[in-house]
Amino acid sequence: MSFDVAAIREQFPILKRRIDGNPLIYLDNAATTQKPQCVIDALVDYYSTCNSNVHRGAHRLADEATGRFEAARDLVKDFINAPKREEVIWTTGTTEGINIVANGLSQLLSTGDEVIATGMEHHANLVTWQQACKVAGAILKIVPVTEDGELDQAAYDALLNERTKFVAFTHVSNALGTVNPIKEMTAKAKVFGAWVLVDGAQGAAHRKVDVQDIGCDFYVFSGHKIYAPMGVGVLWGRESLLATWPVWRTGGEMISTVTLQEATWNVLPYRFEAGTPNVGDVIAMGEAIRWLMALDHDGLEAHEKALLDRATQLAEAFEGLTIIGNAKEKIGVLSFVMDHGHPADIGFLLDRQGIAVRTGDHCAQPLMARFNVPGTARASFSVYNTLEEVDALFVALKKVRSMLA
Ligand SMILES: *Cc1c(COP(=O)(O)O)cnc(C)c1O
Repeated sequence: MSFDVAAIREQFPILKRRIDGNPLIYLDNAATTQKPQCVIDALVDYYSTCNSNVHRGAHRLADEATGRFEAARDLVKDFINAPKREEVIWTTGTTEGINIVANGLSQLLSTGDEVIATGMEHHANLVTWQQACKVAGAILKIVPVTEDGELDQAAYDALLNERTKFVAFTHVSNALGTVNPIKEMTAKAKVFGAWVLVDGAQGAAHRKVDVQDIGCDFYVFSGHKIYAPMGVGVLWGRESLLATWPVWRTGGEMISTVTLQEATWNVLPYRFEAGTPNVGDVIAMGEAIRWLMALDHDGLEAHEKALLDRATQLAEAFEGLTIIGNAKEKIGVLSFVMDHGHPADIGFLLDRQGIAVRTGDHCAQPLMARFNVPGTARASFSVYNTLEEVDALFVALKKVRSMLA
């Protein structure tokens, strides 16, 4: 079955935009994806028909809003094959999900305990553990990254031991595109009884996620990278852990009983959902997940691989360009530097031709240092990109090269 990219593109109104007369070529999907009309409609419909606070109203709008809000939770449960809907916690995004876990972890660790993260993490999945370890007097160890941009599995094996209490790694690198062997890495950590968190900010958009198959304890992701609005995301965690994990924010909704001096905590998932949630965006995220699950997933992966293969082939033949990150398994991310021109200049000159890429350190400064580059230019592909757009990128890069040489 062929993947109908033209039909998909039709659903994204923003793709009709022009930039200085050029058609927009949006290749910054690892930073955020565009939204299909059905997601935009879900948001507008919520505010147009049933905007209300959830869980507390004794009126029709509150019932409807609560129904849609909780239905979105069920969609997430199916999307990641979570055992229970109560394990799906709404957050503002990946960063907050990781912080919720790290805040609790900092109270559960003891002096001398060890935490493992990796050299390819987004700052959100590194700085958080640095802080948690500092608070607890624990030790942070780092899995190094190979020249190809993979995690050094032998080094990882050597870091694991009885003192390892927690391991955090990304499903997919946002800066290099590397897909990590998360199931195997989780199994290795479990031999020592460590808790495992997987950063799914990129993984959820490009790979099928089955948290039960992975075997991890926490999986976090953001709505805005899977075609949903910004400001909403998910923390999934095992019920047995979340039920006793130290609470994060305190306030309304997350409590059970309150006296002037004491309070007790609500059951999951509300235990971690203090305050009025982002109802409209949660509902729109449910719609995005419904949309994504209706796509032919094998077709999606094959299409994105075809884009990456074409881009890699053109990049390898392009004089003066070096690809950063050549892992055997990658999503559609092409990170590169050029002999002439800082990544920021490349990004600026591509924008002049209507092409949106990301330049800089991609919130992964230690990874840039590992490759001795100040940053990279990154083209990241999504379901709606085409082979013609990949070709156009390299035509544009030729112009960039001649301007910068
Ligand atoms: C984007 C990203 C994050 C942070 O996500 P936010 O939506 O900014 O909270 C963390 N990890 C990876 C791998 C990412 O790509």
